Parts: sequence; structure tokens; C-alpha cells
Amino acid sequence: MTYKPESTPLHRRRLLADSSVVIPPDLETATFLNRGNGAPRSNTSHERHRGYKNTCNPDPQNTRYPCISRPVEFIRHTYDVVVIGSGYGGGVAASRMARGRKSVCVLERGKERWPGEYPSTFKAAKDEFHTTGDFVPEGLHGAPIEQGNPTGLFHLIAGAGQYAFVGNGLGGGSLINANVFLRPDQATLNLNEWPAEIRSQGSLDNGYRRAEDMLEPETYPEDFPELHKLKILEEQANILGLGHRFRRVPQTTRFKHGPNNTGVQMQASGLTGQDSTGCNDGSKTTTLVTYLSDAWNWGAELFCECEVRYIQKHPEEGYLVYFAWHGCKRGKFKEQFYHNLMWVHAKQFVFLGAGTIGTSEIMLRSKQLGLRMSDRVGKNISGNGDLLSFGYNLDRNVNSLGRESPLPGFPVGPTITGMIDCRDKANAFDRFVIQEGASPGALAHLCQPMMQILPPSRSPPGLTISKRVRRFLSTLGSRVLGPYYAHGSVEKTQIYLVMGHDGNQASLTLKNDKPHLDFLGVGRSEYIEKVNSLLAKITNGMGGDLVDNLYYSALNKGEITVHPIGGMNMSSDGTASRGATTHLGEVLTGDGSSYYDGLIVVDGAAVPTSLGINPLATITALAERSVELVAGKRGIKIDYDTRNGLLDLWGNPQYPIMDDQPSAWEPKGMSNQKKGIEFTEVMKGFIHLGNDIDDFEVAAFKAESDCALARLFLSVRIPDTEKFISSSEHRGIATGTFSSGLPGSPFNILRGDFRLFRTDANVPDQSNMIYEFDMVGANGDTIHFHGQKNLGPSSALSPLETWKATSTLYVTLKAQDGSLIGKGILHIEASDLLDELRSLNPTGSNLLARCQSALMFLSYFLRQVLRAFLAPFIPLEYPGKKTPEDLPKVAADEIITVTADDGVQTKMRRWEPTANEGGEIFDVLMIPGASVDHNIFALPTIKTNAIEYFTAAGYRCWVLTPRFGITPVARVGFSAFDARLDVLAALSAIRNLQSSPSKIYVIAHCVGSLAFSLGLMDGKIPTSWIRGITISQVFLHPIPGLINYLKGGLPVAPTTLFSALAGDWLNFTSSTHDTLFQRSLNQLLRFYPVGSAAEICASAACHRLSLVYGRLWNHANLNVATHAQLHRWFNGVSMTTLAHLVSMSRAETLLSPTGVDLVTESNIERLRDIPIFLFSGKENVVWRAESTLKSYTVLRERFGEGEGRVERMQFEGRGHLDCWMSEGAVEVWEAVRRRVDGVCGVRREEGEGDVGMGLNDGGGDVREDYSSQKLSPEGEL
Ligand SMILES: Cc1cc2nc3c(=O)[nH]c(=O)nc-3n(C[C@H](O)[C@H](O)[C@H](O)COP(=O)(O)OP(=O)(O)OC[C@H]3O[C@@H](n4cnc5c(N)ncnc54)[C@H](O)[C@@H]3O)c2cc1C
Repeated sequence: MTYKPESTPLHRRRLLADSSVVIPPDLETATFLNRGNGAPRSNTSHERHRGYKNTCNPDPQNTRYPCISRPVEFIRHTYDVVVIGSGYGGGVAASRMARGRKSVCVLERGKERWPGEYPSTFKAAKDEFHTTGDFVPEGLHGAPIEQGNPTGLFHLIAGAGQYAFVGNGLGGGSLINANVFLRPDQATLNLNEWPAEIRSQGSLDNGYRRAEDMLEPETYPEDFPELHKLKILEEQANILGLGHRFRRVPQTTRFKHGPNNTGVQMQASGLTGQDSTGCNDGSKTTTLVTYLSDAWNWGAELFCECEVRYIQKHPEEGYLVYFAWHGCKRGKFKEQFYHNLMWVHAKQFVFLGAGTIGTSEIMLRSKQLGLRMSDRVGKNISGNGDLLSFGYNLDRNVNSLGRESPLPGFPVGPTITGMIDCRDKANAFDRFVIQEGASPGALAHLCQPMMQILPPSRSPPGLTISKRVRRFLSTLGSRVLGPYYAHGSVEKTQIYLVMGHDGNQASLTLKNDKPHLDFLGVGRSEYIEKVNSLLAKITNGMGGDLVDNLYYSALNKGEITVHPIGGMNMSSDGTASRGATTHLGEVLTGDGSSYYDGLIVVDGAAVPTSLGINPLATITALAERSVELVAGKRGIKIDYDTRNGLLDLWGNPQYPIMDDQPSAWEPKGMSNQKKGIEFTEVMKGFIHLGNDIDDFEVAAFKAESDCALARLFLSVRIPDTEKFISSSEHRGIATGTFSSGLPGSPFNILRGDFRLFRTDANVPDQSNMIYEFDMVGANGDTIHFHGQKNLGPSSALSPLETWKATSTLYVTLKAQDGSLIGKGILHIEASDLLDELRSLNPTGSNLLARCQSALMFLSYFLRQVLRAFLAPFIPLEYPGKKTPEDLPKVAADEIITVTADDGVQTKMRRWEPTANEGGEIFDVLMIPGASVDHNIFALPTIKTNAIEYFTAAGYRCWVLTPRFGITPVARVGFSAFDARLDVLAALSAIRNLQSSPSKIYVIAHCVGSLAFSLGLMDGKIPTSWIRGITISQVFLHPIPGLINYLKGGLPVAPTTLFSALAGDWLNFTSSTHDTLFQRSLNQLLRFYPVGSAAEICASAACHRLSLVYGRLWNHANLNVATHAQLHRWFNGVSMTTLAHLVSMSRAETLLSPTGVDLVTESNIERLRDIPIFLFSGKENVVWRAESTLKSYTVLRERFGEGEGRVERMQFEGRGHLDCWMSEGAVEVWEAVRRRVDGVCGVRREEGEGDVGMGLNDGGGDVREDYSSQKLSPEGEL
């Protein structure tokens, strides 16, 4: 029946034939109803085709595509089943195993694309092209070619004599094939190459039936519009006298709307001829809309852009499948890409469905890497006798150029619709079929020059002048008016696709780890000659030239196949000498008929001979058979019967197997709405394995000597750039691998935590890049990885330091129980930086969004780097910003007023011990320095402060705030000498409060220490009251740091100058509202020397403190909360206090206000019976560490060596006040506490009271557990 425009009602009946079909309202008026019925076509037809995204739940905006694959971040380490590839074989395995209730992981190299996303222009198609192999035009030595996008839709494998073209993507070849679904003839299935089990009659019937049920093939409907190319093929069959052998072929193209048997909503074919670049009209019954959607619905987890490289036996159970993940442009790192592989463990089965070339390549590599196999691996490949030719410039229009929107009443048709079946011969080499084809529109503009440049192999003989003129005008018309000119030579070209038998003599080998295909001479066979003669006859008979394909004519009779099969052939006798797999596709070990249990080839690679017909039906049937039988062997029952109903691919699977991770289901279009960014980086270095080295540099040095190389290949995905920048955590998701000498390497990193320039709460003005995750080794071990890069003022104005800071990662590896496994340093090498930059990939719904995302991210990055680089010039920080909250602390038990002999009143606080099991309680008096108060010992911004530490050790602590501290009287102006009276008053107050007066241990710091020692030297403070002394930083010999020394030597004393300009009191707190003088001072003080660049900060208060006292701490030791509130810990200083200090530092001894040196032999003698412990921060620049050294030497000389009498320590990496005001100062307090214990006679168990023994939790590393946290839909942890 021929098509008539009036037959629309019949179309409609067909559309609605299936009563279960639900046609969404928006499809009711689908293009199909308009097509060819003479009604004016809506100009939206094109968009409608391209815009087909409905898969049950129509998206009104039509902007989103479903997404059944998951981000690789969500892969699990272990599954029952891993399926490699997602064409027919892979699709069958995934669906059936999921229906057998196995946990299934599908790894596919290509991407997921849905109708509407396939390329239809030359540019778009070009971007999807990937070429590999060797370019061997003359059978000479080949030059390797590796071009294009490895995850692109089209893959051309260049070989010697034989080229192959295959599909790549979630759906494999089904995404771009011509849908022809044909069974081979029985004679072919009886060929000796097949195992006996397959040769037996009907062995594949069940498989074919199942395939038909899923793929629903049907022939081009008789009542559909006439197709020129089909009609011409029929006429050509008649020319050959084979009219009776012409037929329409069954094809997996939909000719009606509605859901398919899987439950996925389909559309009727738009007859576009676009199948070979992917149909955007939603009519192609790919494995994506059948087997894979079914697998998804039954709980399989699918992952794209995962290229499997090789398979190994798992030491305990099943197999390890190693794969390279192409996401986040990891492929830019050419050196690392195939060497740092991720892996997944298959406990029961690995199904290889990577196609003939893909599977053979994987198995060849696996074999090289130790998986023993048959010598037949990679052998006996066939191009299925494929031949591609063109009947150019016939005497009529063929209409074989695909169009997204065919002209009304002039459809191109599906790519292939008919064939001349010439398989009725006894000899396999004489059996073949000829099918007509269509070229996708994307190639239309290539067709023309190709036809016109390639020399015709056979032209029609004896052409009349009129025919010659016609041919010339057609050629000219095409040239001038383009390939779609209806009377042009290109539109008059019939495309021939021939399939037959070629002897299966191609082979695939690995050269330099790259697959190399070889089938020299295939194009010169008699079979090809014979077919070419027939093609010439039917072409010349219609006035056209037979033009060979490019490979044949330009590359020395090379052939191209779209149907490569073999390479892992089923063995005809079940042994490794005749094939690589059993009749079920199980991989033979190479030793007789033994095979690997659970390692099964289910794709075209297992087909042992050319089929002489399009292979998809047979590949699918074989896969159905294999999977059913191997499942049966293990007692797995596959549920073939339960129908899905209408699938909602926007929703969740109906039959999930494992706990779900919901954010994986975010539909593609939805994630594209957000502006995100991705990048990949490689860091290499040395990690020392062992818990014996604490220092990163030393560990890395040791590891380097041991050649313990380590490599981190990490990709970071930031799903929402705006959110990333505005949140304080600046988080991304890290995925990748870590390789080192650790057993179990390589380690998979999944859903790791990455933070870019998170404010470092422990170091002022420093931000960190944090890499924090649990990683799992191929042996199942889990190791915690903590990496940190530090960017701070040490990079100030130094490009080299900035590069170092942003490229150096300090790594700590820990076991699950928290024990240290290793430490070391990784670096970004300059050579990898370029690749890192090239991997930067902004994401977003359109170009503008992507540009914005890239700009936002880069400007954020630059801002942070510049903040460190320009540290001396960044805006000053004043109090008033949001104050960090204090940590919970125990308040003083009592505050008492202390009145000195001269009537000056100050305060003293008391804390009772928090732990003391009935032992004697000893009193400890702590005396802070100038301008501060009790807070330097009782700091509320650190986890454990000194008061908490000593009260937990059982001591009653008293803290005096002397008159030069934060007290109302300080502004009056007192010297340290005056303040000795406060110390005396404090001691006597404590004694008065004691039930029976006993000695007091004194811990004195800086000016507090000077006040105390002045009192001891002039005899004001009775030494008989003192049990022991700890001196922090300075005692009898105040030797100033260099800058303070220089200040003291100025001709005009700075104190005098300041008094003259601004009065007797210098306030450490300043603000933007201060006087001009004060504000100018703030700005000037940016440049006041504070030591190395690492000590530069933006705090105006810190600058002022440095001016007066010298830098009071190593900034790295002070946390941000402490540094940000210096106005709370310091008030100011009177010039009187300072002047006395300056005069003592000039003299480097203790002086009375009248200048009398009090450190005399007789005064020192007063200390004879007091145990004294002195310490200094080694990097103290207020008082040099020499200060305590000198006092120590003097006292030792005087009092001798008695144990515990006089002791001294220096603390590395510490300055002045950071011996008290920092988390890490606990090491200092511990040393002090041991002395106090010794003096008081307190005995403890070994280690009791030391760091980590319960007195504090401030010194150890605190690790957050990220492993159990889940990602939110935005990917935020
Ligand atoms: C243009 C064209 C037209 C065709 N027309 C027809 C036709 O009309 N009828 C017909 O019967 N046949 C046709 N074919 C052939 C048919 O599509 C294939 O024979 C069939 O798809 C092969 O199925 P398969 O399961 O062996 O593997 P494929 O369908 O090739 O699928 C293999 C999948 O594995 C993936 N893969 C490869 N390597 C790896 C790896 N290392 N790791 C992870 N994944 C990997 C690939 O990306 C691919 O998605 C055509 C092919 C093409 C290219």
C-alpha cells in the first residue's frame, strides 16, 4: 500500500494502536501528524524533534534531559556484577543481572545523551569524533593517530587495510546504528567456527525472542510515505533480476508514539535519515531506552566516562576492574591518565560488553598484565564483509541526505529500510546482502567534494550527449546550490551498504599499549570484486558512477566496517586452542577448556565468524543466552516476567537494590542550570610510611631517600560556584586516586572534601587548601588522608613563595583507629600546571553562564592569592568586626582586691583545682606582664588554657593583675619597681587566706617577672614565702631583642617623643575614628619591622603592640580568635612603665627608679634555697632568649648543680606570649608543671598529666569524620 496524504486517520490509528500508550498532551500534535499529510508544517517541528525530552514526566520548559547514569563520585567500591560497556551485550547483562537482584555497576567510556542531544551539524559532529590507531595508507609502517575526544560519540579505529567505525556512549553502537534487526541464515550459524552448542538448531531462538521483545523491530510501514531510496533499491534489485530478493528489513525504529516494552516514552520516527549521528526525534530504540533504562529501574548503577583498562583477579573473590575516569578533563594529564587508575571490585561477575575492539583491547592488556588467556585473544576478527559504496549521480532523485526536519511530503526515511538478499548460496563467501543507506545531514557538505574528487571506479558505458549534459548540470547544480539541491548529483546518490563474509582474518594487537588493527588485503578479495561488479551494474543501469568509499579509493583498497566482530571468539571446540571463550563467552584461561568463573564476554567480540548480515540481533541474542545460562549456573533467578509499566526517568527506580544516594538522580538539565566549575590536579612527592617522624620536611626527605614516591591525581567538582564563594567553607568534591608504596595502592578517592582557601582558624591571616577524605585501597584497606596547603603572609611580595604555598601539600595518612601511618609532602610540578589550567572546566546552561562561572572562580582565586601576596597593603583590621564567641570556660572562684603598701589597689583571681584526689593543695601565683591581665593565662579563645591545665593538675591558681596591667590605675603610670608591692600584697593575701601559711609557688611572666624579681632583689618580698619560681622570658637580666635594643639606643627616647606628641598613655586599640596622628601611626606601622614575611598581619592592635614591645608572638602559634581580639587582651601602656623598662634593658640588669643596680652578689644570695626554673621562647624578639640564659648562668655559678635547683629550657618555634596564649603552648606548661610537681613533691603515674592524658584536648590533632557524611543535592557535604 502506498502512502496517501489523506491517510492521516490511519496514521492516527497506528499511533493509538497500543491501548496502553499514553500520549502526553504535548505530543498529541506531534510533528508526525503534520508530516506528509499536506497540512502546513509548523515551523516548530524542528524544535519539537530536537526538543524531545519527555520520558514520562513532561518538563513544561522542555529544557532538561533525563539522566540515568550517576556521577562517578557515587560509585561504590564493590558490586556483585560489573558490566563493561553499554551496547547490546552490556545492556543485556546489566538488565538481566539487575533483574536477578544482583548489585550491578555499568562502566561506560562514552557519555549519556538523550534524543535532542545528538549532533546534527558538521561542527557538532566533529567535536564528537575520536580517531585512534595507525594511519597505514600503503600497508607500510603506520603512524599512530590519536585525535579528538575519547568520550565522543563516534570512534574511528584506523588500521592496516581495515578501518572500523563504532559508537561510544551510554547505549554503545545502538545510539548511531541503522537499527536493522536481522537474523543470520541458518547456514551461517552452521559454520564450523561456531561451537556445537550454538550450531544446534534453535539454540538462539530464545535469545532472539527476548531481543525482539525488548527491541521491538518492525519493517518500514507500508502505509508510510514512499521513500525514494527504498524504491530505487527495489528497482535495482529488478535490474539484477533479483526482484524477488528485495525486502523491507525489520528495524528497531519506532513508527508510533507511546511507551516501548520497557516503559520508556517514545515518538514515531521523523524519517530524518539521521540515525548515524543519533536520532533527535525520540524514535530510535537504542539500548539506552530499553535494556539500560530497564537496568536502571531494577537498581543497576551506571557510570559514564569510565574507560576500563584491564581486569585482574581479586585476591579473595571475583575481579578487580581498573578504569580511567575521563571526567573533569582528567585526560589532559596525558602522563598520568592511564597510569593512575580507579578500580571497582566485582564479587561475582564481570561482563565484557565494550564491543569487539574495546573488549579485545581490554583483554589483551589484562593478558599482558598477568591474566593468563588463550593465544586466540585479538585474533580472527571480522569486518563482517562490510563494503560501503556510492551510486553517484543517478538519473533520479534518491533523497538520501539526512535532515533534522525533512521537507513536507518528502521524508528521507530511516537510514536503512530495505535490502537485496543474496544469501541463497552454498558457499559463505558468495552470500551477501545489499542495503540502501542515508548520510546524516552533518556530513552533507562533505559528501559533495568527496564524490566529486574521488575517481569513479566504474562509469556507465556509451553515454549519449544528452545524458552527459544531464550529469554535468546535476554536478554543477550540487556544486553551486549545495548538496540538498533536489536535482543535484549529491541528492541523486544512492548509498550501498553490503555485508557478507570476509574470512575473519583481521587481528588486534597492542603496540605501545595502543590497539592496532590489521587486515591487509581485505579489500582485494574476490568477494569484494564480485560485489563491486554488481554494484556497478545497478548504478550504471541508472546512469550513475560507482564511487568507492574514501578508504578504498584513497587508501589502497582499505575497507571500513561498522560491524567489527570477533577477537574473543567462542571456541569451536571449547578449548583455548580454537578460541578465547566458551560458548557462553566465559574467558578461557589458555589451559585446555578451563575458564575464569564469572568473567564473560557478551558483545560482538565473542562472535566467531562474520554473519553476512547486520549483527545486532545476533549479538543481543547471544548475550541473552549467555547471561541466562551463566546466571543459572549460580542459581540466580532472573525475573523476565515483571513488566515495568510507564517509567519515570525523572523519578527513582522502582526496584532499587542498594541504599540509595538520592542526589545521584539529579536530572542532567537540572545540574546544568547551576554555574559550576571543575578542575583536575596532579601532585607528586614523597610520603614516609611509619609513625616515627613527625616533621613533614624530614619525613619527605627520608621518603625521598627511600624512593617512596607518591602521587595524587585528583579532580575537584564545584557544583555551584556562587554558593562555593559565598559559603565560609569554600567546599568542593574531590575524586581520584592516590598511589604510593602502601599495600592496596592505588586508592580510590570518592566524595572527598576539598576546601579552597578556608580561613585558617589557627593562624591569623592564613587560609588553607584542605584535602580531607577516607580512601580505599584495592585490598579493601581504608586510610584517612589529610592534606593541607597554607597560604598566608609568608608569600608577601614573593612570587616564589606564593607558588610554593599554593603548590605544596603537607600530607598526613592515618589508619581508621587514628594512628599515624605516614607523613610527607606532595608538590604540583610546574610541568603539570599547564595541564591543570587546561583542565579548568566551567559548567552552566549556556556559554554566558559558563563564562560567568569561570570569572567568579578565577577572581575568587586571584583575590585570595593577592591577599597573601599584598599582605602589607591589605586594609587594616580594627576591633568591631564580629567578635568570635568565647569557648566555655570555668569562671574564677573568687576575685579579691589586693591593696599594696602604697595604697594602690589591684585585683587577684582564684581558681580552685578541678582535680585533686584528696592530696595536698598547693598554691600557685601567676603574674602576667604589662598591659595584660589574667586572660593571658585564662584565655577563653583556646580549647585549653593554662589555668585549666594547672587546676586540672591539682593546683590552686591565683592570678594577679599588677598595676601596669589592665586596671584602672594603670594610666597613672607605674614602673615594674612600683608593682613589686602588688606582688608582695598578693602573696600576703594568699598567705592570709591559707589556714596555716605555707609557701607559694610563683610563675611570673615578662614585666610581671621583673616586678617580682625587683621585689626579691631589694628584699621587699620575703623569699621564705616562696616555694619555687618559674620565670617566663626574663628574670634578672633584661636583654632586649634587636629592634628593642636599637630603639633604646636612639638619641631621643621614643617614650619622650611619644609623650610630647600624644601624651603619656599609648592605647593599643585604635579605630578608623581615631585622631589623625593615631591613624597615621596605624598606617606607618604597617612597615614596622616584625621579622619574616610570615609575621605580617593586618591587625592595627598587633602593629601597635609590636611598636612598643616588639613582636609578641610567632603568628603561626596564635589562633585567629585570639589574634582578632587583641583589644580584649591588651589595653595600653604608660610611658612611665616603658621608660623604666627601657632603662633596665639598656643596662641589661634590674634597676631601681633611681638607677641603682639591684642584681648584686648579696641580693642574688637571697635566692639560694629557692628552686628556679627559667624558660624562653627561642624566637622571642622582645627579650632575647639570652636573658634567661644569663640569669641561669649566674645562678648556676652561684648555687651549683643541685638537682632541680636552677633549670632552664628553650622552646623551639615559640616567641614571647605564645608560650601562654596558644593551643600548642601546652608543651611549655607541661615542662613547667613537671617542675612545680617536683618542687611540691607531687608524684604521678608515668605520663599522667602529660599531653593527651586527660588534662587537655588542645594539643592533639582533632579529625572530623567525613566518611559518613552524604552529599546534598548541591554536592555540599
Ligand atoms: C553507523 C553504524 C550503523 C550500524 N547499523 C547497524 C544495523 O543497522 N544493524 C546492526 O545489526 N548493526 C548495526 N551496526 C553495528 C552494531 O551497532 C554493533 O554491531 C553493535 O552495537 C555491537 O554491539 P556490542 O554490544 O558488541 O558493542 P557496542 O554497541 O559497540 O558497545 C560497546 C560499548 O562499550 C564502550 N566501550 C568501549 N571500550 C570501553 C572501555 N574500555 N571501557 C568502557 N566502555 C567501553 C563503547 O563506548 C560502547 O558504548 C551499526 C554500527 C554503526 C557504527
